[in-house]
Amino acid sequence: MLIVMQSQVSEEKIEKVVDYIKQKGFDAHISKGEDHTVIGAVGRKVIDKRDIELLDGVKEVIRISSPYKLVSRVFKNSDTVIEVNGVKIGGGYTAMIAGPCTIETYDQMETTAKKLSECGVKILRGGAFKPRTSPYAFQGLGEEGLKIIREVADKYNMAVTSEVMEVSQIPMFEKYVDILQVGARNMQNFNLLKGLGEVRKPVLLKRGLCSTIEEWLMSAEYIMAGGNREVILCERGIRTFEHMTRNTLDLSAIPVVQKISHLPIVVDPSHATGLRDKVAPMSKAALAAGADGLIIEVHNSPETALCDGAQSLHIEEYENLHKELLELSKVLHKTLV
Ligand code: PEP
Ligand code: MN
Repeated sequence: MLIVMQSQVSEEKIEKVVDYIKQKGFDAHISKGEDHTVIGAVGRKVIDKRDIELLDGVKEVIRISSPYKLVSRVFKNSDTVIEVNGVKIGGGYTAMIAGPCTIETYDQMETTAKKLSECGVKILRGGAFKPRTSPYAFQGLGEEGLKIIREVADKYNMAVTSEVMEVSQIPMFEKYVDILQVGARNMQNFNLLKGLGEVRKPVLLKRGLCSTIEEWLMSAEYIMAGGNREVILCERGIRTFEHMTRNTLDLSAIPVVQKISHLPIVVDPSHATGLRDKVAPMSKAALAAGADGLIIEVHNSPETALCDGAQSLHIEEYENLHKELLELSKVLHKTLV
């Protein structure tokens, strides 16, 4: 339920409404606009909306039939802009996130990060805990990997994103990374989502392999309901009957999400296609469709990569793509960093 307060209402009146709904067993989430303050009442309790409408300072009460509230534009109409390391994501700001699938060695990360930072990339990706389909495949370097990516990122003044796989790892990730990534396979790991709700760092939430947009938004709702407002959605392709690509990039998810939600949405063309030569065209398509950023796998030697080499760009390929995307962003009137 959304409670829209009258314009220029006093703090005292807002507090009284918040106290009232809390007393009735709801959580209150406040969003302050230029004119109006909106209070999101989240909870399962039943309440007569007329009782709230009668409270001092209340303009109107809107019941939301959709299951997501905090992620929706009804709760907050303006685009959420998330800032990491001076880079803005959302609301016309497009962010490039790049790096290898997996952190392998210091030298691999150093070589890649140096080149990416020369291109202008400010956010470095790399997995330290890998959700591999086979238990015999390389599982990642663990905390050692996080130390490497942090050290390298600091050297080139970059921010770090890496995938967190379980709740118990959250404190470790808070120490080393700037954006905590939730992988596709964990999109509905509700305990993890609840844990991330308590974190005060942005979360990049990938869409599940077979998840609908609504399920994905509900996962974002979990994080936001826990108090963390900084969620970046990431479309990374969904499973379809098509086998020519690893997944099918659902480009229409971009405008669909942007109509419903104020959260930024980035696209991962690497996992969506699974093939290096498809990454550049789909990156451009994603940007043209309105994506707020891209997360792209880049490796200094894709042929010898321990994971996802076939979908990783060579550094020179990334450099060319980055230049093209800068040109495209001008046409789209977007700022790309
Ligand atoms: C990744 O980003 O390395 C990854 C495993 O992606 P996804 O969770 O989208 O498969
Ligand atoms: Mn990968």
